[in-house]
Amino acid sequence: MSKISFCPRCATPLTSVFDGGRDRQACPDADCGFIHFGDFSIGCSGVVLREEAGVSKALLIQRGQEPFAGTWQLPGGYVENDELLSLAVEREIEEEAGVSAKVSDVVAFRHMLGGPSSNVYMIFRLDYVAGEPRYDGVETADAGFYSLDDMATMRGVQNISRWGIEQAILTTPGSGLTLDTTGTRMPRWQVFGLAETDPAVWQQR
Ligand SMILES: [Zn+2]
Repeated sequence: MSKISFCPRCATPLTSVFDGGRDRQACPDADCGFIHFGDFSIGCSGVVLREEAGVSKALLIQRGQEPFAGTWQLPGGYVENDELLSLAVEREIEEEAGVSAKVSDVVAFRHMLGGPSSNVYMIFRLDYVAGEPRYDGVETADAGFYSLDDMATMRGVQNISRWGIEQAILTTPGSGLTLDTTGTRMPRWQVFGLAETDPAVWQQR
């Protein structure tokens, strides 16, 4: 875990405390209470599906900048610290590719160690709403809707993106983790769960 020396909230030198089964860096100022759990980040991306002539196509963008300039990937980005997941992915897709879409369900996620932070990368399936793919020529070099057959002949489609698209195209929409709108809801919470296939099961409870 990365080491930091001073409290990012109050600049007091950090000390080591035993918390949650291991030593962690913590602020000795009781009023502050900061504990350094480590560096974490959440990425989100979306498989926006659109039918063209009976074929399912997914929105892809081509990276215009390093790292991996020229490769194709799902539109997405980092979730802001004060932003809920489903809103983050819809915002990123609109900003990056000019397409408005609505979250359907979570089809996959990846957890990765070894980068600058411990990173969770969520892949959502979204319903296309409006807009034609656009690119800015700087961050993005191209954008469009492509089928799995198209991708078989395209160079530089990122593996994690292709895998997410397969998860989304080859499974039933809504069969992944869906945003719960029926259970107990708390402000600033989002709860995702598997959709119940048989409503009668719920009624028997
Ligand atoms: Zn502090």
